[in-house]
Amino acid sequence: MEISLAKVKIVEKHGYNKIVSKTTINLNEVVFDCYQSSFQTTRTLKTTQVGLNKHIKNKLLDFVNHSCNPNSVFDTSEICFRAIKDIRKGEEITFFYPGAEIILANNFYCNCGSANCLGYIQGGLEMDPKIIQSVLEKGICTKFFKKIFLSCTIDSHSLPNRDRNGCFSPPSHSTCHTSS
Ligand SMILES: [Zn+2]
Repeated sequence: MEISLAKVKIVEKHGYNKIVSKTTINLNEVVFDCYQSSFQTTRTLKTTQVGLNKHIKNKLLDFVNHSCNPNSVFDTSEICFRAIKDIRKGEEITFFYPGAEIILANNFYCNCGSANCLGYIQGGLEMDPKIIQSVLEKGICTKFFKKIFLSCTIDSHSLPNRDRNGCFSPPSHSTCHTSS
């Protein structure tokens, strides 16, 4: 399958899909929009988190692979992918999964090949506070992620509580602003 959009195309190689830029894309530029999306309260392997119990499902999002050195971020306010650095023509569009998902539907071992590859990839909530700090500094996370982690003291006691179904409730004893 090959789907082509204004600035990117979806390329399938050996049953593996990826999104590749067709042109130079500048820092902060919209890479592609995700207006044709649906929202749901539960996470799956094919959703991206936009709120505490709010997950977006979009065919294009499904094709954006993880990298520990990503070139894009999902803009949870404007529901689009946005470049966080200048992207060359032919470069794969990637984002940092733990910078969107506070837990992952499936943790995995990364082989993105970047110098700063974290190896084992878990959700944001399960990452080491030092890594969370660097994610916030590099801006490789969603606005939702920033809201969660900047409004909380980064320690396990002030982060949202997760129930058995993976749904989160804001901690009652802190001043976290965790509404979606
Ligand atoms: Zn990696």
